[in-house]
Amino acid sequence: MKGVCLLGSTGSIGLSTLDVIRLNKNTYSIVALTANKNIERLLEQCIEFKPVYAVVPDHDLAEILSNKLRLSVACDTRVLSGMDALEFVAELPEVDIVVAAIVGAAGLLSTLAAAKSGKTLLLANKESLVVSGDLLMSAVKENGATLLPLDSEHNALFQCMPDGYKTGQRANGVRKLILTASGGPFLNVALSKLANVTVEQACAHPNWSMGHKISVDSATMMNKGLEVIEASYLFDMPADLIDVLVHPQSIIHSLVDYLDGSVLAQLGNPDMKTPIAHALAWPKRHESGVSPLDFIINNQLSFEEPSFDKFPCLRLAYDALNAKGTAPAILNAANEVAVEAFLTKKLRFTDIPKLIEKAIKVSTIRCADSIDTVLKADAETREIAEKYLESF
Ligand code: NDP
Repeated sequence: MKGVCLLGSTGSIGLSTLDVIRLNKNTYSIVALTANKNIERLLEQCIEFKPVYAVVPDHDLAEILSNKLRLSVACDTRVLSGMDALEFVAELPEVDIVVAAIVGAAGLLSTLAAAKSGKTLLLANKESLVVSGDLLMSAVKENGATLLPLDSEHNALFQCMPDGYKTGQRANGVRKLILTASGGPFLNVALSKLANVTVEQACAHPNWSMGHKISVDSATMMNKGLEVIEASYLFDMPADLIDVLVHPQSIIHSLVDYLDGSVLAQLGNPDMKTPIAHALAWPKRHESGVSPLDFIINNQLSFEEPSFDKFPCLRLAYDALNAKGTAPAILNAANEVAVEAFLTKKLRFTDIPKLIEKAIKVSTIRCADSIDTVLKADAETREIAEKYLESF
């Protein structure tokens, strides 16, 4: 049995991970589950999976969960609180696999803790790699951790890499990486109509069912921008060797273009349970619960170039990657503030890139040589972005 710590178990990735684990009950034992606010869902998960620990950052919510768990028979899960507890459970010796599925930079320290304790780290929390790319990749390397991408595009790239490939290395013979992008819900909506789109419209992704933050990121294409940065660190490739290709059907999840003219792609139905099952079972394979791909139903695969004018977030992300240092952390923090403001109806959709650009312009890019520097850049940018928000 492999011990699993699932950080962010109540979210979209968390639920899909538990679906896959439910199908493969004899292979995994859940050591820890964590949530932020949704203690009702966490309670149900504790009753079903009986983890040793459940973690909620807020002390009062943890107390409520603890009391509810005490009333339930045959479940002696220990409830921990505080952000430190997320790191504690990610480091436990009985944990073999850490699934990092917290959303945003809030997942950074627990993801880093898993890498530092040499775990098999299944990374959904792309923001942690964007914010601290070099630091996280060094922690993986220095501590013998295994980093496997859960993001469907990066998982696809990983599957298309040569035999024996390890993340963090430049693969032999690769000319470039091609990240596919659905284009999100506004691919065919005119730029002039985007100013007044609603939260519901932005979160109604055509192919994927996801949490709110990544749904908005997909609608602005910042998600693809963050993924370009993520790919650069995971596969040691510079920005100019990572292309984005719009593929509205989301059947091809990404492609590796080799020097000899071969292009390897990974295909499948758009369901996160496939990359999750792949990474959980790696280097073996097991059931994911995803139906087989039907080529007759999916007989139209189309491709187009992304529009950097309509989706300026994509350009901002490439610029941040090229600027290096704390630039990606600054981009990410400004984006988190902007997306939250859009979700709470304080900012219009088309103002998201404007707010991010303004915040980036006045932020100082430093060398990202320590976690403190990165956290400082994150905090400073949030303050700047919050201040600018008032002028929109
Ligand atoms: P969700 O919003 O659905 O879930 C986020 C999880 O993180 C929840 O368990 C939430 O708890 C928890 N959480 C939120 N804030 C905090 C915090 N401050 N401290 C501790 N825990 C917190 O997000 P997704 O599952 O959609 O995405 C998770 C990550 O995976 C993101 O980084 C996203 O970019 C990435 N990803 C997601 C994909 C998808 O299909 N959803 C695809 C590829 C990558 P609670 O429920 O209590 O709020």
